[in-house]
Amino acid sequence: MKILSVNAGSSSLKFKLYEMPEEKGLISGVFEKIGLKDSFYTIKTDKEKIKKEVELKDHEAAFKILMEELMENGVISSLSEIKGIGHRIVQGGSYFDQSVEVTEDVIKKIKELSSLAPLHNPAAIVGIKAAQAVIPSARHVTVFDTAFHQTIEEENYLYAVPYNWYTDYKVRRYGAHGTSHKYVSLKMNEILGRYNTKLITCHIGNGASISAVVDGKCINTSMGLTPNAGLMMGTRCGDIDATIIPYIMEKLNLTPKEVDTFLNKESGLLGISGVSSDSRDIEDGINHGNKRCALAQKMFVKRIVDYIAKYYVEMEGCDGIVFTAGIGENSISTRREVLDSLKILGIEIDEEKNNTRGETICITTDNSSIPCYVIPTDEELMIARDTYNIVER
Ligand code: ADP
Repeated sequence: MKILSVNAGSSSLKFKLYEMPEEKGLISGVFEKIGLKDSFYTIKTDKEKIKKEVELKDHEAAFKILMEELMENGVISSLSEIKGIGHRIVQGGSYFDQSVEVTEDVIKKIKELSSLAPLHNPAAIVGIKAAQAVIPSARHVTVFDTAFHQTIEEENYLYAVPYNWYTDYKVRRYGAHGTSHKYVSLKMNEILGRYNTKLITCHIGNGASISAVVDGKCINTSMGLTPNAGLMMGTRCGDIDATIIPYIMEKLNLTPKEVDTFLNKESGLLGISGVSSDSRDIEDGINHGNKRCALAQKMFVKRIVDYIAKYYVEMEGCDGIVFTAGIGENSISTRREVLDSLKILGIEIDEEKNNTRGETICITTDNSSIPCYVIPTDEELMIARDTYNIVER
């Protein structure tokens, strides 16, 4: 059965088509600058990667071209072969603790949650409507980044603010990257060969979050109401003293929107280093003796270590630590620095095994108290799995 996994942004559309239940990726790609000048798309198959420049008026136009490409590439012979389309949704609030089939009510709730994810939820609705218009015969499923975190108890998801902020305005921790945390924790359990485990999953990319997962269920996570909480990130500040915000707004005469831009786009690795939000540039800077890059990296690592230590105590132990996403999968030095700081827990890195990028591997020695793994994440596959399971039911 063919299942299409899609991730619609305001001007982009990422996709990957799977043969399910074999979980075989057939073709993938991305449409960019939709509705803007110079729009184009790239498509990757087993054999080749192509790029075409073409006018993409809107997401519907992108889906139409995508269907033509799938037919031209011989992966489908008619649209009806695509039985399910899974749509990634960033914010599902407290409404969704699992993936669901799209209905008018589901769309209404995603729209209602737009104030919590203004860049993402409205774009996802545009993506769903466009897909429904172009491929009406398929069943459409929504997969929420927040769903995996819905098992978190209230003492962990509430902020110590007036209670009616939660009841009246939905102010609470929702988490992020749930699909990724779920994927790598499932994979880690498979590797360990058991499911009654205590895991710490570190999704460290440009955006970054850490989760504590007990017996496959998330019990805590570092992201909050929005994806600017917990860890220091590429351009986001993560946890800060909340009163910094009114203080600096007054000092610099900033509007709420302006201060939000500083905290989301000009903080983190970029804010401290003054050089870049990209961890490769930070590593380069350090190699060239740049002190602010070294400071940024020190702070970045320290916050990861803080969260791992916190969750180790909260779970009363840990059976495995997983590193995933751009930095987790690729930054040898970040992983080394994090694990070196966790020696007190009996963790022992295997330098040779850690000297790797983008593959599933155990990076600690046999003597290490906790096995630590790199597991490349696969959010598209999780979306396809959930969609297949719903369509098959
Ligand atoms: P997001 O999905 O949040 O945009 P990614 O998971 O793609 O982010 O991660 C992007 C980050 O991964 C960037 O900071 C980049 O520096 C880092 N990264 C990618 N490749 C490497 C590498 N070889 N070494 C170090 N960092 C890397």
